[in-house]
Amino acid sequence: MKKLRFETLTPAELKQAVAGRSLVYQPVGSMEWHGPHMGMGMDTVNAYSTALAAAERTGGVVMPPLYIGTETPRSPETLRRVGFSGDERVVGMDFPANSVKSFYWPPELFERIVRQQTQMLLEMGFAQVVWLNGHGADAQIEILRRVCGEASQASGRCVMTIMALFEGCGAGLGHAGLAETAIFMHLCPEAVELERLPPKPEKLANTRFAIVDNETFQRGPNEDFTVRYDPRDATAELGRSIVEYTVAQCVRLVEDASPLR
Ligand SMILES: [Zn+2]
Repeated sequence: MKKLRFETLTPAELKQAVAGRSLVYQPVGSMEWHGPHMGMGMDTVNAYSTALAAAERTGGVVMPPLYIGTETPRSPETLRRVGFSGDERVVGMDFPANSVKSFYWPPELFERIVRQQTQMLLEMGFAQVVWLNGHGADAQIEILRRVCGEASQASGRCVMTIMALFEGCGAGLGHAGLAETAIFMHLCPEAVELERLPPKPEKLANTRFAIVDNETFQRGPNEDFTVRYDPRDATAELGRSIVEYTVAQCVRLVEDASPLR
């Protein structure tokens, strides 16, 4: 079987990878609170497995994933959408009721690491570098876009970033809700314990569980500030179909941008 994992390649194989398809995926995510019912590595596990599955189809190699996510304090407007009063200090998904804290790296440090890693991958000779990102924080997305844009300009090569979750995947997106829970059930069954959530029909309050739909973040809450896309409806089968869709979207974006076309 063809090797995909960068850390297993001998120097001769590495030279071949650079001279051949010359594509490297760098998965990145977070180590972050994902509700009481999920392990904290969801974003990165998703990015890594998406990268490995995409590389099977596109060729190229996959770097070990970076479990580094960045976050910034929430604006009063976002806090009110979620159900807070607006004057709390909340960074990312670290809501006051959470029992453990996330590992949020300062944005400047995150940016320096992304720059350095990009630089080293370009120095190795890759023609296409894909940052596959599993953590949807605005600051993380903005830094990756900016660094990739600047590195592409400066090097004349293709440095790009893709978010490893797509609208249209068949489940409402959000933080630790239906889609992410289903994906994790599929990729890593031992990382999900649905019984940690209260039984239905109790609704899941955003502020109590730090589970929030994208719709709430972007447009606003439902009538009682609860989760719309319920993680308790997740199944591994739904997760499998979401992952399949995500991989297909990634493959298309990577091939479209390929410098070898
Ligand atoms: Zn997540």
